[in-house]
Amino acid sequence: MRIGILDIDTKKEKNGRGLHEKFPNIACGKIYGYHKMNGDEVFHPWNGQKVDRLYISTIFSWSRKLIERSLPHWETLADEILIGGSGWDAYPGNVTKLPPEIELVDPNWSYELYGIDYGIGFTVRGCHVGCGFCMVWRKEGLKEYRVSPIEKLINPKSNHIVLLNNNSFADVGFFEDVEEIRERKLTVNWNQANDITILTPKHAEAIASVDFRNFNRTEKTLHFAFDQMIKTKIIEKDENSPTYNSLKYIPADMMKVHELPDNKIKVSFDMMKVVPEKMRMLAEYGIRKRKLTFYTLIGYDTTMEEDLERFALLQQYDCNVYAMMFRDLTGKIGVDGRGKPQSAHVKPFRDWVNGKAFRNVPFKEFDRYRKAQQEADQMTIFDIEQAI
Ligand code: SF4
Repeated sequence: MRIGILDIDTKKEKNGRGLHEKFPNIACGKIYGYHKMNGDEVFHPWNGQKVDRLYISTIFSWSRKLIERSLPHWETLADEILIGGSGWDAYPGNVTKLPPEIELVDPNWSYELYGIDYGIGFTVRGCHVGCGFCMVWRKEGLKEYRVSPIEKLINPKSNHIVLLNNNSFADVGFFEDVEEIRERKLTVNWNQANDITILTPKHAEAIASVDFRNFNRTEKTLHFAFDQMIKTKIIEKDENSPTYNSLKYIPADMMKVHELPDNKIKVSFDMMKVVPEKMRMLAEYGIRKRKLTFYTLIGYDTTMEEDLERFALLQQYDCNVYAMMFRDLTGKIGVDGRGKPQSAHVKPFRDWVNGKAFRNVPFKEFDRYRKAQQEADQMTIFDIEQAI
């Protein structure tokens, strides 16, 4: 069989920026391996070659429109087309999953397909937190579960490993993973924004004991999420769960706890207090603030004042900040978490933070913010006149 794979948002030879810039599509790597083992011819039909079966995968929802536009063309090239991925699936009703015989394929096939010299993958899937803006728990469930040992993800070409786990610290296997990383002398990149509320001294000690790095291995850094001012989650009252245990390390005035039926509790964390508390804890184990990068979600449920407050706090603690604009689960931009138009400050705020304009000008004097604000004010006057 001739098998085509189109991993829509994976940057490959096109950008030529070197091996570490290639971020593989793990599902496509497994599909590649499965068909290679079956003796099929497998390739990227970027030049419009005909195939018997075409797999199309996208991680980001903004590629959905491109796929929809290109589909009539691809239908002329392939007898069968299978489309999936986080950016394509509709939640919760239509979630594509790889069949088990493909899911279990050795990750080395991915490394071969993408020509990468580092190991990458998940040791744990799922996430107990269930943030309203996130598709992970909708796709993988509200409980963490192990999917692979570290050993299986190692790329024989290097000792660097990139973990894509969504909530590593909530995983019961976290400490064993760290031990293995240390014993094998691996460098590790915990690639996703970690849940800082779960950190305990034991986590901090474990993290400090390994060589944690960024994706490219060029810097020592850890990523955390600071998505909302108040972070809420439901936790099982189970002494063996790292999540429940971690509550012991958060002072009472930093969270509210409500008892729920079925041996559960609802916990709301005041993140403006919890984040500095956890940074202090990390610092005690030698993990200084400059090594921390915070992904801050904007345009979901925070106001401009809150965004500025979060940013000022993280600046005060000398952390790196990366602002991420909210898109809804269909990839739609310009709306907030309730589907209402996003505040005018959101896009300029992202540019001000990520483009480092904050070094030169206060946000309220930033030209893009002023322009956006003027446009928003004009819209409001126009709306009032229309209404009259
Ligand atoms: S903690 Fe992260 S992975 Fe978990 S639901 Fe929230 S955003 Fe998603």
